[in-house]
Amino acid sequence: MLQRLFNRLRGEPASNAPKTALMNAYARLPISFVRGDGARLWDSKGKEYIDALGGIAVTFLGHCHPKVSAAITEQANTILHTSNLFHIPEQLALGEKFCAISGMEKVFFGNSGAEANEAAIKISRLYARSKGIDSPIVITAEQSFHGRTMATLSATGNEAIKKGFAPLLEDFIHVPYNDVAAIQAHANNTNVVAILIEPIQGEAGIVLPDDGYLTELRKICDENGWLLMLDEIQAGMGRTGKWFGFQHENILPDVITSAKALGNGIPIGACAARGIAAELISPGSHGTTFGGNPFASHIARTVIDIIEQDDLLSQAEILGSALQQQLQQQLGALASVVDIRGRGLMLAVELDKVYPDLAVKFLASGLIVNVTGGGKVIRMLPSVMLNEEQLRQIAQTIHDVVSSL
Ligand SMILES: *Cc1c(COP(=O)(O)O)cnc(C)c1O
Repeated sequence: MLQRLFNRLRGEPASNAPKTALMNAYARLPISFVRGDGARLWDSKGKEYIDALGGIAVTFLGHCHPKVSAAITEQANTILHTSNLFHIPEQLALGEKFCAISGMEKVFFGNSGAEANEAAIKISRLYARSKGIDSPIVITAEQSFHGRTMATLSATGNEAIKKGFAPLLEDFIHVPYNDVAAIQAHANNTNVVAILIEPIQGEAGIVLPDDGYLTELRKICDENGWLLMLDEIQAGMGRTGKWFGFQHENILPDVITSAKALGNGIPIGACAARGIAAELISPGSHGTTFGGNPFASHIARTVIDIIEQDDLLSQAEILGSALQQQLQQQLGALASVVDIRGRGLMLAVELDKVYPDLAVKFLASGLIVNVTGGGKVIRMLPSVMLNEEQLRQIAQTIHDVVSSL
């Protein structure tokens, strides 16, 4: 099986690949996970894995968390969906909770990260109208990832995934990440209305900006009347040891977006705002059928309650530091390891070059990670349900695989 995996990853024609009813959107690894528990997964052959990827930053509370499962059952037996033609108490309750943890004033719920960012981009357009700006521009970062819909793809700073989809929205300026001067350089452009940026770049390979970067952006936005819009879809919801990435600095953005871990696997996205940005959406100007339905809202609120009640923000910080320390100890001396970095449970090991078949080698060793950042970065987005032994195993397995390269 490993040989077949290798062949596929090397891009050899998968002549014996099974015919499938699914569009060819994903280069899938030929493994199916059939069961999960906490930070562990089992594949269809019964092999056990440590899940250090969490479904790409989604299952922060792990697989089959008993309180999440209970909330799912309870809500399924009460009511799933009614539509936004009516008041939805579960949505309002989640909205109040979400505002309390984020410092925002109002929130719009959709079904995914891309949709949350779409809402943010639409808010920036309405903000432009309110200022009499006809051709608004949003500043975003190079190497950023904001989603796959047409507007969020336009905002994204990764040329490879934009290829083939022109014409995109043209009203985004991409600047180098973590470069305050590159943004300041556009201060005289009277068409700029907002900055949309990740507090830590995820898909780019867990890229942390310097301390104070977001504070500087806040200042530039205040000076120029721009909205500071932070894409917290990957870094938010407790992953870095605080509810949101921006909370490591003493600032409040105007708009934040969230998704991924918000529903721990139940699809939901949120775009929250404060001040004028919170007032711009009006009946008829935005909406979605499923957004914030009783089911998704109840589960997301349960997720927030669990993180709060079980003190999982500090747990994420403690586990993240411990894992980073173990990675340093085990890998620090390896010549092929260029950098070990992260914040909380958002961690990366950067290698000196691209090594083929890396993700497959980890799978063969029973560890689920992801390789991103141009193929050189081992990315970990594990669940806060990891135990000490699993932490140790993650560091050990990465050591063993990397030193065998
Ligand atoms: C995953 C992600 C998105 C897109 O979310 P989807 O739910 O896949 O649409 C947007 N921004 C960031 C930072 C992400 O990590």
